[in-house]
Amino acid sequence: MNLPIHVISGGIFSIIVYRFLGIKNAIGFFCFASFLDADHYLYYIYKFRKLHIRKAMEYFDAHRDVERFCLCIFHTIEFFIFFSLITFIFSSLFLYACLLGVILHYIVDIAQALYLKRIYYRWWSAISYCRSRKTNEKL
Ligand SMILES: [Zn+2]
Repeated sequence: MNLPIHVISGGIFSIIVYRFLGIKNAIGFFCFASFLDADHYLYYIYKFRKLHIRKAMEYFDAHRDVERFCLCIFHTIEFFIFFSLITFIFSSLFLYACLLGVILHYIVDIAQALYLKRIYYRWWSAISYCRSRKTNEKL
């Protein structure tokens, strides 16, 4: 969850998207590239039943070094496959721009995780997460 990096990278690349695909698609691209971390906030709301954005950001910063402490659903391979299918089914230029934004967001997240040597600190699959929970419940 690093909003400034996502906003800056999303902003820079949205200029390129605007140049080739127009303003509406550039806005969709920018929103998905910058604000895909909304799932962190949804997790915080679900867990604590509170709407404090600042406290949510502090919570995730405090848990930065904790391995796989939550499932961020927009950051899973299943979400990516689902979103890709929706995009291909509807074959809309706007959805393609949004999908490009999602891919840029993932590239930034993965690059940051590799740089910080934290690639295994996140659940990249909702199925793996559910399997892990079932295994832990049986023990
Ligand atoms: Zn992210």
